[in-house]
Amino acid sequence: MTKKILKCPKCESNNVVPEAGFVTGYKYHCMDCHYRGVLILEVDYEEE
Ligand SMILES: [Zn+2]
Repeated sequence: MTKKILKCPKCESNNVVPEAGFVTGYKYHCMDCHYRGVLILEVDYEEE
């Protein structure tokens, strides 16, 4: 089974949570480096 995980573009942590944005839709917040923005890495993740 394949899942998508979100990764921080700065520190590549997957400790990223979506936040509701105002006009532009979703923003993301990295809990590790406190990056905040719309740019995020989506990675396919194999789960057995
Ligand atoms: Zn980060």
